[in-house]
Amino acid sequence: MLIVGAGIAGLMAATDLRQAGCSVRVVDKGRGVGGRLATRRLGEATFDHGAQCLDLEGSPASEARWLEWLERLGPTRVPWWPSGAAAAGGTDACRWRGAPSMSAVAKHLARDLEVHRETLIDALRTDDSGWIASVGGVDSFAADAVVLTPPVPQALAVLEAGRVPLPTRLRERLTSIDYDRCLTVMAVLEHPSRVPPPGSLAPASGPLAWISDNLAKGISAVPSVTLQATARFSLDHWDEDRTEVGRQLIEAASDWIGHDIREFQVHGWRYSRPRTPDPEPCLPLDTPFPLVLAGDAFGAGGLGGAAWSGCSAARGVLDRLANRRPDAGSGPKVQP
Ligand SMILES: Cc1cc2nc3c(=O)[nH]c(=O)nc-3n(C[C@H](O)[C@H](O)[C@H](O)COP(=O)(O)OP(=O)(O)OC[C@H]3O[C@@H](n4cnc5c(N)ncnc54)[C@H](O)[C@@H]3O)c2cc1C
Repeated sequence: MLIVGAGIAGLMAATDLRQAGCSVRVVDKGRGVGGRLATRRLGEATFDHGAQCLDLEGSPASEARWLEWLERLGPTRVPWWPSGAAAAGGTDACRWRGAPSMSAVAKHLARDLEVHRETLIDALRTDDSGWIASVGGVDSFAADAVVLTPPVPQALAVLEAGRVPLPTRLRERLTSIDYDRCLTVMAVLEHPSRVPPPGSLAPASGPLAWISDNLAKGISAVPSVTLQATARFSLDHWDEDRTEVGRQLIEAASDWIGHDIREFQVHGWRYSRPRTPDPEPCLPLDTPFPLVLAGDAFGAGGLGGAAWSGCSAARGVLDRLANRRPDAGSGPKVQP
């Protein structure tokens, strides 16, 4: 089986399928695993520059499932702040972080999986025996089933390139899923910030949605902050010079971080969070061989929703394969 995308949805799907006895390969175009569970270094400074915290509670998982997920995350899930000590303007839901940083969670989930990094799937098509995924125009992976977890516009591009037919209503349903953008500044400071404990802040107004102090968070050896712009600011300033945009966001945060900035970088997340997620936890397609779309665009959104979506996709694939076997019971038919 082939899982496209090594974000939390893909890694959860791969883990469930492997536990069910399937042979699983995961591919990701990135240099590392995790997708939007991302950490970057700048000199001695470390930044979580995608998802800031592990609020998996947002998923509709049962309590038993939730406890099993905690086991899966192992020592990479640690409290950011004690229960009840919510961040100023934040919520108590965001009190777990990755250790030593967010990308460690993905590395931990991927540790026993066969993962092909820096591998961009450019098209997916079927032949008589199953799915063929191509990389750089060359047929590279054969699979009896596929779970596709990139952000929906990227997943659609892969399907279109392989001429996988999609009914008009389904295509419209998928193309209606839109994403907020997020311009993110990673700044190394000369001095510790004035962001109050526990080291995160959600400003009530202005261009910033979130400020994280990575030193206070416990992931950076030197003072550094991650500044995340609002969706509105990110859209309005997306095509502008990134250094100039970074300066504006640093100025907006100056009450908390001062003006002594050693260096900074700006990252633009084109697909930050789905604005209009599909209500279903995943989307099995009516294709000759199992193909399920998953990720945070389906279900509850966020890390919890993406994790739940990946697990739902694994179950969808297993149900579909079981129904194909002659001795299978009469499980539900999988329809888009
Ligand atoms: C700035 C920011 C802050 C956030 N903060 C929070 C937060 O605090 N709490 C929270 O719950 N959520 C947060 N989120 C959202 C959360 O990060 C996502 O909902 C979640 O990580 C999505 O996981 P996913 O597996 O669905 O997708 P992704 O993590 O995006 O994984 C998809 C993977 O597919 C790969 N891929 C794409 N196309 C291809 C291709 N053609 N071939 C191969 N690989 C491909 C990508 O490289 C990527 O690794 C935040 C997101 C951002 C960007």
